[in-house]
Amino acid sequence: MARHLVLVGGGHAHLTVMLNLREYVDRGHRVTLISPSSYQYYSGMGPGMLSGIYRPQEIRFHVKKMVEDRGAKFIQDAVVRVDANQRVLFLRSGSEVPYDVVSFNTGSDVPLESLEAAKNGIYPVKPIINLLHARTYIIQEMRRRPLNIVVLGGGPAGVEIAGNVMRLVRDNNGQARVTLVVGSRIFHRFAGRIRERVRCCLTRTGVEVREGAYARSVEEGSVTLTDGTKLNADVVFASMGTRPSPLFRESGLPTGDDGGLLVNAHLQCTKHPEIFGGGDCISLVGHDLEKVGVYAVRQNPILHHNLFAALEDGVLRSFRVRGRYHYTYLLIFNMGDGTGMLRKGFLLMNGKPAFRLKDFIDRRFMRTFQVSGELDEPEGGL
Ligand SMILES: Cc1cc2nc3c(=O)[nH]c(=O)nc-3n(C[C@H](O)[C@H](O)[C@H](O)COP(=O)(O)OP(=O)(O)OC[C@H]3O[C@@H](n4cnc5c(N)ncnc54)[C@H](O)[C@@H]3O)c2cc1C
Repeated sequence: MARHLVLVGGGHAHLTVMLNLREYVDRGHRVTLISPSSYQYYSGMGPGMLSGIYRPQEIRFHVKKMVEDRGAKFIQDAVVRVDANQRVLFLRSGSEVPYDVVSFNTGSDVPLESLEAAKNGIYPVKPIINLLHARTYIIQEMRRRPLNIVVLGGGPAGVEIAGNVMRLVRDNNGQARVTLVVGSRIFHRFAGRIRERVRCCLTRTGVEVREGAYARSVEEGSVTLTDGTKLNADVVFASMGTRPSPLFRESGLPTGDDGGLLVNAHLQCTKHPEIFGGGDCISLVGHDLEKVGVYAVRQNPILHHNLFAALEDGVLRSFRVRGRYHYTYLLIFNMGDGTGMLRKGFLLMNGKPAFRLKDFIDRRFMRTFQVSGELDEPEGGL
């Protein structure tokens, strides 16, 4: 029986489904993708776009074209509420979209409410398009005056942003003081060895790393820390961790502690079997998964299989978290100075070969899913 599959968000976990939409359409199913933007930017290369290593076209997927070329419908909008009993999605524009099967890949946002006061001049590091806006603003302002740039958050994203914003300044012959405010300590979830190397690498390039204080408030032109220090700040990047949107909780769906859609090993909502999800927006029963794209990418084939199976009354497959500890997967950070910091299990390596490996892996990933002529497009487009 022909059914209606709705994909909410064109994120990293939906890429395989989007690539193979013809299979769904050829079986008579209707498919709709709802996303606020026609483009999806790949976060792994986002800091590199900020510094200018990559052009925007090199790091994004034209999801609207990708789905329309494969016979599906694209709606540029956002889902604001789900009525799981009636199987209806409510959109920001006021429209309603009914579904038979729905899959959420809506990612996560940087929660800004922990910072008091002004939100102007703050660039949350998600969505990644913000990094492009920040790049344009910094280049333009540096022509007029030296800048104070403050990056909030000492995790991988904050570190990559700080390193790459320093490169942006240098490559454009600008003058800027770049400060990374890390809270208790830099890379606090990681072992001491990597913390030391990351700190060294950043300070060598001129980034000032401030440990032992959190940002308390952001005012027009400054950031106040919990130890009372006031930092001048013309540009602020907010990278203090991410969490799923309140969409699921507000819709009365089962959620994990962070508000992510609670799913079983089939990536299926624990209460409503016709609801699925992947990537940062889910909370997997029995696991506390890091908010990293690695998981979203690994969930691709399972989501593709299970959504098709749900439409066709087939057998579902399970997503298995490989390895007992989260640090068994490969991570390579772009430090902005042409080097990478690689960590896999107990292996730690930094230098140019590590960045070249990251660049190779990221470009290969892009080649797989950039099937809509992205590289030949002009730079604009949100
Ligand atoms: C600067 C930075 C660098 C990073 N580097 C790495 C890295 O190198 N390796 C790594 O593994 N991880 C990295 N991460 C983490 C990674 O970004 C996330 O884990 C990854 O983006 C999760 O993918 P996703 O598909 O779940 O969400 P997203 O990539 O955020 O995609 C979600 C999509 O859903 C859409 N959407 C949101 N809300 C709605 C709604 N209500 N209705 C409809 N659509 C909606 C959004 O517009 C977006 O298109 C990085 C993060 C940052 C911030």
